[in-house]
Amino acid sequence: SKSWTLVRHFEGAPKLEDFKLIEKELPPPKDGEVLLESEFWSVDPYMRVYSKKSLKEGDVLMGSQVARVIKSKNPAFAVGDYYVARSGWTTYFISDGKELRALPSSWPESLPRSLALGALGMPGVTAYIGLHLICNPKPGEVFLVNSAAGAVGTIAGQIAKIKGCKVVGSAGSDEKVEYLKEIGFDETFNYKTVSSLDEALKKASPEGYDCYFEQVGGKFGDAALQQMKDFGRIAVCGCISMYNDSIPQTGPYVHPLILFKQLRMEGFLIFRYENKPIYEEAQKKLLEWILEGKVKYHEHITNGFENMPAGFIGMLNGENTGKAIIKA
Ligand code: NDP
Repeated sequence: SKSWTLVRHFEGAPKLEDFKLIEKELPPPKDGEVLLESEFWSVDPYMRVYSKKSLKEGDVLMGSQVARVIKSKNPAFAVGDYYVARSGWTTYFISDGKELRALPSSWPESLPRSLALGALGMPGVTAYIGLHLICNPKPGEVFLVNSAAGAVGTIAGQIAKIKGCKVVGSAGSDEKVEYLKEIGFDETFNYKTVSSLDEALKKASPEGYDCYFEQVGGKFGDAALQQMKDFGRIAVCGCISMYNDSIPQTGPYVHPLILFKQLRMEGFLIFRYENKPIYEEAQKKLLEWILEGKVKYHEHITNGFENMPAGFIGMLNGENTGKAIIKA
């Protein structure tokens, strides 16, 4: 089995030299265990943030994959079945089955299994939960999402459209902005090329914003807070513009804005909802919407496990439209 390990903790932006490929022989599975082969891996922004807290130098990088059972000594798991696992950046692994999540038996032939790591997996569910539990948008309201062309953003924006909102999205290239228009966003802009974020936000919605699905933080967050309407709701899903900072940024202090506009701003982490009914509800709804064509998905596939660090770094640099996936 091959694995990618962390040579040293990331300082600033992750670099190829921070990763090392190792290979080791796996023992045969014991009674109660199964041997799995990874087919797709997910690369996600949380890996940049949590590697420091959860990993030691030399550890295998964390992450999830879609994997197929190739040997089973556990009657509950049949050879050939696919599961979502959380076994890190590794090609083959042994599991006692406790952490494996089955792909629904009704998985449609027409859909790639990699969607279990994207639109129908953690990122899609994150969009669904942050939008419903925190933003709670009403028809006719204005919904803003940044990093909008990514795994979570594309889904959050499209759900907000289903809810009858006017949807505004920002992304880091003109191609991404075009894609957002194709999937139904009402107003879009390239945050890298506009001369002023304040002006771009005002132009996209002169009346301001009722809901803000925050994924970027930093200067974008400061500008967006200024444009909130009274009683606006802000779901703080991420702050990717701040993940590489070794020294925290200091910015404008937002307390008066939150107070006088009577805003509600709430952070949430998807892990808290993993075993809650809303997780399955989200997956069910998202599958329905995808099959009805109401939610479109896009994947940015990097081929080859050996290219996984490059795929991860590429995602952090914005190379992906939709979900960044590594394919074996
Ligand atoms: P994406 O698919 O959106 O990929 C990351 C994107 O971030 C890049 O494509 C890039 O797009 C953008 N980006 C990178 N650096 C910057 C920057 N300095 N300023 C603005 N944008 C930047 O990733 P996900 O959809 O998986 O995640 C999106 C956000 O949601 C992240 O903040 C992540 O941490 C968070 N998240 C939170 C979860 C939770 O439980 N709360 C769960 C899952 C994700 P561009 O070209 O537009 O710059």
